[in-house]
Amino acid sequence: MVNDKRKVVLVGTGMVGMSYAYSLLNQNACDELVLVDIDKKRAEGEAMDLNHGLAFSGANMRIYAGEYEDCRDADIVAIAAGVAQKPGESRLDLLKRNTQVFRSIIEPVTASGFNGIFLVAANPVDIMTRITYALSGFNPRRVLGSGTALDTARLRYLLGEYLHVDPRNIHAYVMGEHGDSEFVPWSQALLATKPILELCGEEAVCQEKLTEIAKEVQGAAYKIIDAKRATYYGIGMAMTRITRAIFGDENSVVTVSAMLRGEYGQSDVFAGVPCIINQNGVQRVLQLSLTKEESDEFGRSCQVLKESYEEIKQEMI
Ligand code: NAD
Repeated sequence: MVNDKRKVVLVGTGMVGMSYAYSLLNQNACDELVLVDIDKKRAEGEAMDLNHGLAFSGANMRIYAGEYEDCRDADIVAIAAGVAQKPGESRLDLLKRNTQVFRSIIEPVTASGFNGIFLVAANPVDIMTRITYALSGFNPRRVLGSGTALDTARLRYLLGEYLHVDPRNIHAYVMGEHGDSEFVPWSQALLATKPILELCGEEAVCQEKLTEIAKEVQGAAYKIIDAKRATYYGIGMAMTRITRAIFGDENSVVTVSAMLRGEYGQSDVFAGVPCIINQNGVQRVLQLSLTKEESDEFGRSCQVLKESYEEIKQEMI
């Protein structure tokens, strides 16, 4: 840790950022929280609102709207800033605008002398995490994205409902892109130590249900956006889970977006993979024993991410 207080600077105080902040406060997950947004008034209002809840919380957090210089002695800079797609705007043009947003953030953060861990949630999260790595020049172990942490939580919740067990006893992951090419390596899905595929046995109905669950996980964000315009509580809590793993030096396994350096036969790409997370960030990428089909599927997802990054690489110069 950079100092004896657990300090987070949050950049982007929109729905996702503030869900994270609210969850940090309720879980007493840090000691100092600085809110930064291009809309300073908004950050100030959010800081006031959170501070007014302090008396009802078990936390003794210091919360204030600040500046990029406040990153100097922060342990974590979390980024939930981004611009929304304009009507008729292409995915690539949106990505270019968000790359510029990140440039306007990463440069002052690194100029402050920040020497902690970047935690990225802005979408497309795997690409924005890679951009953060490229712009900051940090060791990739200290640059991580929320990746498929939320998708994995959704998967465990749905499997728990289906199998009537506590989702905490389900060990299963969503891997790859946080997006359309993500997938579930079912060979690695366990209920306690029992493979879920074994539970299914020859029952076709069960296999169909698993496919349906994987589809539901993949489409969850679309469904929530359709119903209430945006998703934020789940991602805020996923970010808090990662933050706790860092501050607690937990060595916990979370599916974050991490740089691959030969793992799963992939390199030069950030993708959602189970990682051991501690106070240094990504301590290690866990290599699961994927089947040939699952490896191929992971390769395809990484290819999507590589091609997407290639499209905006020029913007990085
Ligand atoms: P939002 O519009 O509510 O908030 C975005 C915030 O970013 C605003 O407060 C805005 O003022 C700020 N901002 C814009 N440009 C900035 C700049 N240059 N510097 C500083 N602040 C700036 O959006 P939201 O719903 O909170 O979503 C934020 C991001 O999180 C989006 O990219 C969204 O797609 C992503 N998201 C990720 C996940 C995930 O699983 N990783 C889930 C949900 C949403």
